[in-house]
Amino acid sequence: MTSDDSTKSSGREYWDFKTQQRKNFKASYCLHAEAGPHTCRGKVVKAHTIQRATSLNAIALNGHVFKLEVNHDTLSKEGGPAPREVGIHRASTFTGLCQYHDDVTFAAVEKQAFTGSVQQCFLLGYRSILRELHKKRAAEETLPSLLKLATANSGASNPTEFIDTFAAGMRIGRQVLERVKKSWDRILIERNFDEVRTAVVFFSKCPDIMTSSAYYPVADFDGQVFDANLSRLGKTSETPSLITYSIIKSPNGGAAVFCWHRSADDICDPFIRSLVGTRPGDRLDDAMVRLAFTTSDNVFASSMWWSNLTDEALEVLNARMAHGLAPQTAFHGGELERDGIRYVDWGMVRRRLLVTVHGRPQEIID
Ligand SMILES: [Zn+2]
Repeated sequence: MTSDDSTKSSGREYWDFKTQQRKNFKASYCLHAEAGPHTCRGKVVKAHTIQRATSLNAIALNGHVFKLEVNHDTLSKEGGPAPREVGIHRASTFTGLCQYHDDVTFAAVEKQAFTGSVQQCFLLGYRSILRELHKKRAAEETLPSLLKLATANSGASNPTEFIDTFAAGMRIGRQVLERVKKSWDRILIERNFDEVRTAVVFFSKCPDIMTSSAYYPVADFDGQVFDANLSRLGKTSETPSLITYSIIKSPNGGAAVFCWHRSADDICDPFIRSLVGTRPGDRLDDAMVRLAFTTSDNVFASSMWWSNLTDEALEVLNARMAHGLAPQTAFHGGELERDGIRYVDWGMVRRRLLVTVHGRPQEIID
């Protein structure tokens, strides 16, 4: 069978898969800790994971920003993936909160200026987890049509075994995140932030990119691999340490905001220390760009900044986005290490650095 024949024969399955995928990712329901028929009010909204009025608006041109993502559709395109222009009303949204829970729960980050309070850091992190869970559930529910597509594409070979392994991995990933969310749900309901850890880096200028993300760190900014966290991934009985982070606009410039539950201290504490520790010639703003492009699929950028990047920077950032999708970009541990590229200049970060570790503010000055 030629590739043309194969494409034709699987055209219908591909169409079905894409339709199902779109439908699942738009599934509307409320993920709030106290969601239910008697507590939810209003329709499920397109909830922003990045503040629209402040952060997205600050990097928009004519109400639009660049969404930077690599997926299997864009990866195969020649010349690398092109950024997609999206309106800030749609950018970073997910349909996982009802009107009431979106309004009331996140008022402290949507309606108040960011000061770096533990509550604000927690809410930014909580919303990242909700989005991630919404996405994971949608991906899992798309598996049956993915299986049909894979079967149609494979011709004589049987892809079932591969898909089964893939499906098992997805199911475990979703189950583990549901478990992580439960401990965050409890904090939200009890409004007791004693178990919350935060680290905030303030920049003197507005960042060129905004993001909201949650992930399991497997290596730090010095290339040290977290074997303990790596070994927990993909196991039903284990809960890997998860960190959430956002890059946002703040009243005096911008901020990188990290948050984690204290049960994740074993990994997140050294991870944050490696970020704020001094590496000759490296800067925190560039380190944040490396982190976002390597580990987040929810990155939005100023079109002006993206258009002015050097060819070298574009090539490296595209490779970072493709990381994990292409087999040739297997994990080696040095992903977040300094790469010598100046991507951004968000101000004299080290002199304006305030880190809160274990609830105690620590000032780190150059
Ligand atoms: Zn609700």
